[in-house]
Amino acid sequence: MLALPGSPAPCSVCGRPRDVHAAVRGPACGNRQCQTAWIQQQKSAEKEAFENTCDRVAKTFGEKVSADAVTARVPYLDRRVIPTPEAEKRAFRATLREALRETARRAGEATPRPLPEDETPATLTLNASCIACRGYCCRQGAGHAFLKPEYLPTVLNRRPADPPAAVYRDYVRRIPAESMENACVYQGEEGCVLPRNMRSWICNDYECNDRLRLKAKLEETPQASALVVAMDGKNVKAAVIAAPDSLDWLEPDAYAAERAQSQ
Ligand code: SF4
Ligand code: SF4
Ligand SMILES: [Zn+2]
Repeated sequence: MLALPGSPAPCSVCGRPRDVHAAVRGPACGNRQCQTAWIQQQKSAEKEAFENTCDRVAKTFGEKVSADAVTARVPYLDRRVIPTPEAEKRAFRATLREALRETARRAGEATPRPLPEDETPATLTLNASCIACRGYCCRQGAGHAFLKPEYLPTVLNRRPADPPAAVYRDYVRRIPAESMENACVYQGEEGCVLPRNMRSWICNDYECNDRLRLKAKLEETPQASALVVAMDGKNVKAAVIAAPDSLDWLEPDAYAAERAQSQ
């Protein structure tokens, strides 16, 4: 049904006329079935667009991508690595000192989260997600690196012989000369510079939904390779093809070709 001049476009699902209130909420009318259908259409369109993107990216990798590679989309942290600003280091040191003091004050109040029993490192194929995205979630560690009183007891339990001052000095000496702009002070170009046993448990445990989706696919086919595409909106920012024992980046010139194809 066509809209009268000046009136909102009809519902894109059922075609009935809509009032202006429904029109500002999206292309469907207020009917629940139309809303659900519209959301499903959106999801299928996004899935199809991602599959097309993967096909294009796979072509630029050529024979490195096997036909049965699993695919994953991850976000992309588009930030530079810069000399870690002195002001940022000072602020972080002050936050860490206070967090250690507060942890000591709360000692005995809460049971620290037990150390994980299984610390088997994740496979390279799964870690390709975090490598391609450049640690998008670690930007949230800006200012504190998640070394907060709610996470510190687990870290301190690993080194019962060390007084808090020694722990503090150990963290401070590991602040890198260069780190990701406006992100965690320990986030370097190659990822986190802290050894795993010095990271908070949330840093060691956290997996975003994109990584969890890849994990589920790899649990079904553990030997499969993975094509991981890091995207900012519709733009491909980086891509990695990983197998259990190898990892390749999409070369910049191939990536430029991929971009040219997508325009
Ligand atoms: S968990 Fe997700 S957001 Fe965080 S680094 Fe890995 S892929 Fe990126
Ligand atoms: S300490 Fe390491 S893992 Fe934790 S937020 Fe900072 S860079 Fe990420
Ligand atoms: Zn409708």
